[in-house]
Amino acid sequence: MIFSEDFPWYPFFTVLSFLWGAATGSFLNVCIYRIPRDESVVKPRSHCPHCNQLIPWYLNIPIFSYLMLMGRCRFCKARITPRYVLVELLVAALFLLVWLKYNVVMGARPLGVVPIVSAGLVPVLWLYVSGLVLATFVDFEHMIIPDSVSIGGMIVGVILSPLVPAMHGVDTALAALIQSAIGLALGFGMLWSIGKLGSAIFRKPAMGFGDVKLIGAIGAFTGWQGVLFTVVGSSLVGSVVGISLVLVGGKRMQSRIPYGPYLAVAAVIWIFWGQTWWQAYLDLLTRPALGS
Ligand SMILES: [Zn+2]
Repeated sequence: MIFSEDFPWYPFFTVLSFLWGAATGSFLNVCIYRIPRDESVVKPRSHCPHCNQLIPWYLNIPIFSYLMLMGRCRFCKARITPRYVLVELLVAALFLLVWLKYNVVMGARPLGVVPIVSAGLVPVLWLYVSGLVLATFVDFEHMIIPDSVSIGGMIVGVILSPLVPAMHGVDTALAALIQSAIGLALGFGMLWSIGKLGSAIFRKPAMGFGDVKLIGAIGAFTGWQGVLFTVVGSSLVGSVVGISLVLVGGKRMQSRIPYGPYLAVAAVIWIFWGQTWWQAYLDLLTRPALGS
C-alpha cells in the first residue's frame, strides 16, 4: 500500500482509479457485444439476452452484481458469461496500474522509470487501454477488429499526441505530432508488408487488414519504438501461444488464430515496462567496451 504525506488524497484517487476502471469495463462489455452487431452502445438499456428482462441499475453494478448474483440472471437464472466480470476486473486492474505508474503526484514509481510525466498521461492511457481491450475481445469472438477502434484510434492518437507530448516522451507539440505520424506509418507499413509477403508465400491471406489498422493506431499512440516493440513482442507471444495450442489442444497449424489480442498484449507490456527495456537496450549500446 502506498501513502504519501504530501498528497492526502492519493489513496482516494487510487481506489477511484480501480472503480472507474470497473465502470469503464462494464461499458466496454456493452461495446464488445453491440458494436460487431451494429447496435447502438447507448440505448436501449441493458437487458438479459435470455429472458429479455431489463436489468435495473442495482443489479448492473460492475463486479459486485456478478458476484452477488453468483453469475446468474436474477429473473430467469440463465448463466451470465464470466467474460463480463473478467473484462471489468481486467480494465479495473489496468486503470489502477496506469494510475500507479503515470500519476504526477507520487515521487515513487512502483513499476519502473518514466522519462517525462504529465497530468494528461493517465486519462490518455486509460482511453488507449480501453481501445486495446475492446479490440481484443471483439477479435476473440468475431475475428474482426471494428474500424471504430482501429481507424478511430489512429485519428484520436494523432490528435492527442500534440496535446499531451509526454505520450512520446518529448516536450513539444510538434515533436510529438511527428513521432505519432511516424509510429502510425511504420506500424501500418510493417504489418501491411508482412501480410503481403505472407500471402505471396502461403497463397492465402496471412494477416487481417484489421490487424494492420490496429498497429497503425498503436503507433499513433506510442511512436516508432512502441511499434517495433509491439510487432516483435506480439510475434513472440503469438508463437508461444500458437505452439502451445498445437501441442495441448491438437489444433492444426493452419487454424486461424486472431492476431489482435497478441498485438494488444504486447502494446500493454510496452506501456508498463517498455521504457525500462528501451533504456536498458540503449545503455547496452552505449556502454564502453570491457577493459577500456
Ligand atoms: Zn434472464
